Amino acid sequence: MALKIKNYINGQWVESKGAKYLDVINPATSKCESRVPAGSREDVDYASESAHRAWYSWKNTPAVKRVQYLFRMKQILEDNVDEIASICTRESGKTFAESKAEMVRAVENIEVACNIPKLMQSDFSENIATGIDEFYIRQSLGVGACIAPFNFPIMIPFWFMPYAIACGNTYIVKPSEKVPLTMTRIFELFEAVNLPAGVLNMVHGGKETVDSILENKLIPAISFVGSTPVAKYIYQTGTSNGKRIQAQGGAKNPVVVMPDADEDTAVRIIADSAFGCAGQRCLAASIVITVGSTGKEFADKIVKAAKAKKVGNGFDEGVDMGPVITAESKQRIERVIEKGLNDGGRLLLDGRDIKVPGHETGYFIGPTIIELANTKNEIYDTEIFGPVLCLVHVDSLDKAIELVNTSKYGNSACIFTRSGNAARKFRNEVLAGNVGINIGIAAPMAFFPFSGWKESFFGDLHGQSMHAIEFYTQTKVVIERWHDEWARKF
Ligand code: NAD
Repeated sequence: MALKIKNYINGQWVESKGAKYLDVINPATSKCESRVPAGSREDVDYASESAHRAWYSWKNTPAVKRVQYLFRMKQILEDNVDEIASICTRESGKTFAESKAEMVRAVENIEVACNIPKLMQSDFSENIATGIDEFYIRQSLGVGACIAPFNFPIMIPFWFMPYAIACGNTYIVKPSEKVPLTMTRIFELFEAVNLPAGVLNMVHGGKETVDSILENKLIPAISFVGSTPVAKYIYQTGTSNGKRIQAQGGAKNPVVVMPDADEDTAVRIIADSAFGCAGQRCLAASIVITVGSTGKEFADKIVKAAKAKKVGNGFDEGVDMGPVITAESKQRIERVIEKGLNDGGRLLLDGRDIKVPGHETGYFIGPTIIELANTKNEIYDTEIFGPVLCLVHVDSLDKAIELVNTSKYGNSACIFTRSGNAARKFRNEVLAGNVGINIGIAAPMAFFPFSGWKESFFGDLHGQSMHAIEFYTQTKVVIERWHDEWARKF
């Protein structure tokens, strides 16, 4: 019987009050690794009450002391990279190198949050009128929560959690029920940080846990990352319950290749972007829009680069691409490919029948490339979230930008060109929150917001950087009058 995972609440490992458990499956082997609680309202209530209690002293702990705990978290992550990354590969299927790369991004966010004593500073105006001064104080909100997706089990909670607790909030992390083991191990290691009980909590589960968070009166702020329909639901439900919500959603990321681009470099970078993490990245290149004389040769080259990707168990030497997350996901991706072909798409490379020797039961799909005659094909604006790249051709940069801007998503858009003019026009006109110029994955560093527009984001302030700090604090404006005469009385 596989091990049952516990929640971490009030500084203790506690069993879920819910009766139901779900299997945690290794997608490379289809073997059950562990069992995760499906979740219960009582778990969320217990976590929110503990976190709320802890908040009263945590919020008044000086910021310079709060960040000492974060310095220790950073050290713990860095000292345990291999162990954490290997759990991540086991439950998510991504390659060991990809898991290790996630750790770097998690650590970067802790590093930025360590500057909270400076970043939380406010403005002060002396003598706004005679003898009157005005300033604001940035204060924490209370208990924050993050609801994470499966595709970055390590990194994504760190877009929010370090900032929230550095600002004086207490926190609840809800990992994806598909990949709960990595964050569970991180929390075990974080026990050595010695945070006061209740400051950092973890509650496992699926929809019931999420709905309990959305309805919980002690949780005023929620950060969500996941698919667009759920992001929309979280935003609508959370805001109607009076909460602050930042909800990052799905994506379909176009990459424009201009005739003057360094084509070989563009091909290499786009293949890495499209097929890395088996295409399960919200910033993965998913449509290439070739412009003008770029076209036939580009298609041949990208097919060749895609064929060279070695698919297999993420632990095996030389493997570039692991499996997709679940059997359902594999079936869904295969159905979307089929539909794209029925709608007139031309198959340039088919990854559906791939076999990985020794891993016959794993959920593997090889790189797949489909050429579209036009953007009427439904696949053009459908998030596939698998290793499937679509190609479409247009005559001009204007037309390419128009195509980018018709998408319902706006997570990222990239261009490959040697022309400063083309790049500048693209940067100015595209309706996307993260823009790459000669870059395949426009993933912002921790000191920039993880932007995202249109159906890729619901809310006002994004994860990471000053956005996360503003999201997890509220301003209190103070206007003070100190008359000379009053001062003289004492
Ligand atoms: P998902 O929406 O299925 O799940 C995300 C979280 O929501 C999980 O914790 C899950 O338990 C919970 N959830 C799922 N269904 C729910 C429901 N009906 N009601 C309430 N809660 C629910 O997403 P996923 O499959 O885990 O992750 C992949 C998606 O995440 C993709 O669409 C990808 O583009 C997106 N993503 C976006 C970003 C970004 O920055 N915009 C980053 C990573 C992933």
